[in-house]
Amino acid sequence: MADVPAECNIKVLCRFRPLNQSEIVRGDQFLPKFQGDDTVIVGQGKPYAFDHVFPTNTTQEQVYNTCAKQIVKDVLSGYNGTIFAYGQTSSGKTHTMEGKLHDPHQMGIIPRIAEDIFNHIFAMDENLEFHIKVSYFEIYMDKIRDLLDVTKTNLSVHEDKNRVPYVKGCTERFVSSPDEVMDVIDEGKANRHVAVTNMNEHSSRSHSIFLINIKQEHVETEQKLCGKLYLVDLAGSEKVSKTGAAGSVLDEAKNINKSLSALGNVISALAEGTKSHVPYRDSKMTRILQDSLGGNCRTTMFICCSPSSYNEGETKSTLMFGQRAK
Ligand code: ADP
Ligand code: MG
Repeated sequence: MADVPAECNIKVLCRFRPLNQSEIVRGDQFLPKFQGDDTVIVGQGKPYAFDHVFPTNTTQEQVYNTCAKQIVKDVLSGYNGTIFAYGQTSSGKTHTMEGKLHDPHQMGIIPRIAEDIFNHIFAMDENLEFHIKVSYFEIYMDKIRDLLDVTKTNLSVHEDKNRVPYVKGCTERFVSSPDEVMDVIDEGKANRHVAVTNMNEHSSRSHSIFLINIKQEHVETEQKLCGKLYLVDLAGSEKVSKTGAAGSVLDEAKNINKSLSALGNVISALAEGTKSHVPYRDSKMTRILQDSLGGNCRTTMFICCSPSSYNEGETKSTLMFGQRAK
């Protein structure tokens, strides 16, 4: 493995979307006050500082260039990485991770990464042979569902002979162009739609995970290099009111809460750098991500926020979650 660059390996970036139509109609206030390019104040209270804060008019391209471009280079150099989007439902997680897949201006991080990987590869040494495969699955109520094979609804996490965790039996597709990556995403999204009655509700209650695995081998020296990148669109972080929710909705909420706090605990243990106990085993998601979080890995967390006064409470708790990683 190559030398570890000196920079910190967990980056926390905060992005505010614009007010939407119904918030404007309701007369909500626009809350955030942006200070420099890394600090934001929301309503009364202290400033929140991150590695970067993106104000509402930031383009998809600017977001990509600031955060993900370097990760692609690192994964092609043999590092693992994870990019998450965290925030309440409707805060811009999917917009940030996927955006509009087939629109060159509005496409998000995942399609841009797909293009960038192949651009790099075409410019690299001809003696390098690349094998790129992708998987796409979701975690709902602690069950792992393959989005590329609807018959696989409850996959389990295993460890390979090097003790690296992986989702056993998950479909892997070899891809050789950005268009093939897009086809896989479209297929997975279509499968996800078919399985549920209300897609918006469902996507806000499940974590979706897109994995890109890159292996390269030098045809003469047979030297090998592997890197993988997890791209995670998390379930909505909003609190479900204790009085309003019952039955399955409450179960879902508890489950999401548990998995998001397990993630928060892992990230904050890694950020503290105490090297003591990192509680990876507390959730399926953190187990799967174990070798792609912290340490030598590139970890980027997007903290997605609504600018509306109506969401002030949720926005502040979202910002607090991001602060735990600093
Ligand atoms: P989430 O995935 O967090 O539930 P979405 O990404 O679906 O939220 O965003 C909710 C709505 O807001 C979508 O219609 C999306 O297109 C829009 N939106 C989100 N972020 C932005 C942004 N930065 N600029 C413009 N529109 C956005
Ligand atoms: Mg979403």
